[in-house]
Amino acid sequence: MRMRITGWTGPVLLAIAFSVACGADTGPLEVGGEVPSVFDKFADGVEISLDGSNVVIRSDGVPNHGSPYFNASDSRYEAYNGNNSQFYLNPNRIAEHQLTFRIPANPVPSSNPSATPLGPIGVAVNGVPIFNQYAGPNQPLTFEIDSFDQFNGHPQQTGQYHYHVEPLYITLAAGRSTLIGFLLDGFPIYGPEEEGQTVTNDDLDAFHGHVGVTADYPAGIYHYHITFEDPYINGNGFYGVPGSVS
Ligand SMILES: [Zn+2]
Ligand SMILES: [Zn+2]
Repeated sequence: MRMRITGWTGPVLLAIAFSVACGADTGPLEVGGEVPSVFDKFADGVEISLDGSNVVIRSDGVPNHGSPYFNASDSRYEAYNGNNSQFYLNPNRIAEHQLTFRIPANPVPSSNPSATPLGPIGVAVNGVPIFNQYAGPNQPLTFEIDSFDQFNGHPQQTGQYHYHVEPLYITLAAGRSTLIGFLLDGFPIYGPEEEGQTVTNDDLDAFHGHVGVTADYPAGIYHYHITFEDPYINGNGFYGVPGSVS
């Protein structure tokens, strides 16, 4: 079970100190609202808390699966065993990068949608950042794709590991219709299948999402889908008002 911290304010500090000292449960921490239960899907080691109207997600960005991008002496090193005959190992190696994502707990559509930046635009449920469909300013991923490891991630120049396409470790473990993570605007991302059907770009709007019911949102919500074609995760920018990452 990952760490769960709900929002709290100054006057509650004494109560927290008391409850921690007494080994009581964390009931008194639950002031200012609960983190939505869908965030229980995040892996161990990813810290989730609530700060006002934002869910705060803290991660070191290191994948919870093997990769040829760990140093060969690292126990997490796993030689490339994917099926891309064009695979090449880029010169970068995975390094920790402390990331703090602040995303709206109650996401809302934007009246003036903004483009996604390079760098993290969202976070997968294993704490690995999600990048957009570009290798650099308006440069397609064409060449970079061949450096994706067996779980479809790779590190950039400073060692920050990330996914531009379907994170295979997550969908292999939980199925292709599972929750993948969230973009900075707080809207969820789902895998490339829905109700047994493969989702294609034609099923989605320009932002790469649509409104519908999901396992985690039985009342329905706007959500992104991963597809096998460019732009893979997100299209024309953030559908909603984005939070921040630092
Ligand atoms: Zn990349
Ligand atoms: Zn859907």
